[in-house]
Amino acid sequence: MENIQKALVKYWGYNDFLPLQKKAMESVGRGTDSIVVLPTGGGKSLCYQAPAVVLPGLTVVVSPLISLMKDQVDALIECGVSAARIDSSLAVGEQQRVFEALHNEQLKLLYLSPERLVSNGFVEMLKKTGLSFIAIDEAHCVSMWGHDFRPEYRQLGVLKQVFPNVTIGAYTATATEHVRGDIAGQLHLENPEMLIGSFDRPNLIYKVRRRTNRAKQVCAVLDRHKGESGIVYCIRRRDVDDLSSLLRAKGYDILPYHAGMAGEDRKKNQDAFINEKVDTIVATIAFGMGIDKSNVRYVIHTGMPKSLEHYQQETGRAGRDGLEAECCLFYSGGDYGTWKSLMSDMQPEAYKIAMVKLNHMYNYCTGGACRHKAILRYFGQTLDKDNCAACDMCLGEMDFIDDALKTAQKILSCIVRLGQSFGGGYTAAVLTGSNDKRILENRHNALSTYDLLSDYSQRTVHDWIEQLEGQACIEKVGDYNVLNVTEKGWRVLKGNETPRLLKPAEKPAKVSRVVEDSWEGVDKGLFEALRKLRASIARKKGVPAYVVFGDVALRDMARRRPSNYVKLLEVRGVGEQKRRQYGEVVLAATKDYCQANSLEMDVGVTSETTSFEPPTGEPKKRSKLSKARQLAFGMFERKLSIEEVAKSVERAESTTTQYLVEYIKREKINNPYPWVDEQTFGLIVDAAKEVGDDRMKSIFDFLNGKANYTQIRIGLACLRNSG
Ligand code: ADP
Repeated sequence: MENIQKALVKYWGYNDFLPLQKKAMESVGRGTDSIVVLPTGGGKSLCYQAPAVVLPGLTVVVSPLISLMKDQVDALIECGVSAARIDSSLAVGEQQRVFEALHNEQLKLLYLSPERLVSNGFVEMLKKTGLSFIAIDEAHCVSMWGHDFRPEYRQLGVLKQVFPNVTIGAYTATATEHVRGDIAGQLHLENPEMLIGSFDRPNLIYKVRRRTNRAKQVCAVLDRHKGESGIVYCIRRRDVDDLSSLLRAKGYDILPYHAGMAGEDRKKNQDAFINEKVDTIVATIAFGMGIDKSNVRYVIHTGMPKSLEHYQQETGRAGRDGLEAECCLFYSGGDYGTWKSLMSDMQPEAYKIAMVKLNHMYNYCTGGACRHKAILRYFGQTLDKDNCAACDMCLGEMDFIDDALKTAQKILSCIVRLGQSFGGGYTAAVLTGSNDKRILENRHNALSTYDLLSDYSQRTVHDWIEQLEGQACIEKVGDYNVLNVTEKGWRVLKGNETPRLLKPAEKPAKVSRVVEDSWEGVDKGLFEALRKLRASIARKKGVPAYVVFGDVALRDMARRRPSNYVKLLEVRGVGEQKRRQYGEVVLAATKDYCQANSLEMDVGVTSETTSFEPPTGEPKKRSKLSKARQLAFGMFERKLSIEEVAKSVERAESTTTQYLVEYIKREKINNPYPWVDEQTFGLIVDAAKEVGDDRMKSIFDFLNGKANYTQIRIGLACLRNSG
């Protein structure tokens, strides 16, 4: 383990393990077979890559897709690990070079497809090479009970027979107990160690809203994530085409992707997304499989997926690097109907299962409980905290009405009075007192429940009906989706149970603590500067930007602001190879920026104060620095000076100034007078008008010493708040 830990620091620049990684690596080191289930972003690859580096001989990694193999091999080479792949996309010459490296025992990891590994020639060759470990990635593909069975994975069953002394590790993000048992059986693993992580992704911020105006709702999310990578999913190809044209016309940087497009165009758009030439991809669910891009910061669903499994998989593409990512789902009752009709020609048994899954999905959308808890419950796990701080419910973005019981009783009683023979739209119209011809003809205006909810719009009442359906108080039956009151609905009618109904007005999106924590101490200006540098390096090398440095490394750099190589190595995600390759340019850029903005360098960051939260980790407590911030913010509110606050919170004045700027931004303060005098602020405003407000140095030079950098920073922050 000691050697593995050293390798982790040397090649990957990581000082600690993510949950279960250590145990998973230990079992490889001991030579025990294992099945490791970790959610996307849980760090599965390192579970086999790090031991592979220190084990004698070769490790073979079985992977189902060329794109996945390529991504991982590129990333390993970037870290300085000798790795290669053999697949059909390699030219003959390249293949030859891999075989030579294999023959000369120069490789530590070799990526192969399952069918190639078990082919006769390969087995013989590997027997001569000294194979010590086989890692099977996406191992759920072995099982017919998994969601992505691949017959070629079944052939891996012979491995134990042909390589009886080689340890096998199976790795997957999704495997129910049934699937795990099947993997062990199919692969003939010997008493495998089962390591099952939590399915929770605490860094994903789930938000669900009824779809009212698709384009407007999508644009609001895109505006929150300017310059960041994200995926917008649509149910149908037609929706992809419509939404893409609309967004492009509005000036958004997006490209479409769906199976109806020519293969060449699809590949071009996918590459543009991976290589960060475009921020957003608008796609059907055909997009995403095999995409390992670690810094997807948002996933938007413009329609409801057909199951929570699909939803988990699609949202799982966000935030693989463990940093926060927003997952917004805009649904409508109509999506339910769309799926139902799309599924109508399924076999009866399959249809039944699909409908159960669809109902769970719909209940998730309309339900009023914590989204993290709801997803975990579905997968048979629980969340051991009251408030996830990362969903619309726990963030308090959604408000519930106070008299839910009475309102629900009015709705249910109207359904009963309508003889349980009408749909949601009609029922809502009756409850709001509509003069619709049908209602008058049916004399439903004479019902005691007619007009009972006329204080609300028909749309709101229809929404509540759907929420009651989501909470299993109502069910829709038959071809016409006629509303029936369920057993639970009757309990509500009798007052024995109270449902939750959402208030009609939406509250604005809130910033999650997950976001605040992960940006803690990061200078956003420097982060942006480093991001541009990363993009230019990536372009020159022809690799995706996140392969050069992940967002975690970039934020940590902009937090620590290293001034030399030793400090640079302390940055999370910077190993020796990356330091050697990019150290010089990164240090120069950091130094330039810090000088121009009079920012402190070599900021000490203890592990307790770093904001990185592993995807499967324990809930992170508010860090020390955060407390310092809270304290500082309170003092700024009382208009105390930077010097006074710096002393109290025991931070350098430059750090305290940064807190002040954050405070100003957060509280939208536009009056800098407690910290910058009126005359100086006036000068800064004039200078900004003259030379622009994007470079402090230009303002500083323009004012020729009449304002210092601290005053300019504060002045600009206030100026931006007043627009
Ligand atoms: P998975 O295959 O489980 O989806 P990955 O192996 O792609 O996850 O890892 C997800 C991210 O976490 C990657 O960016 C990876 O570099 C990072 N990571 C893995 N292990 C660690 C660690 N011990 N410390 C910090 N980051 C890690």
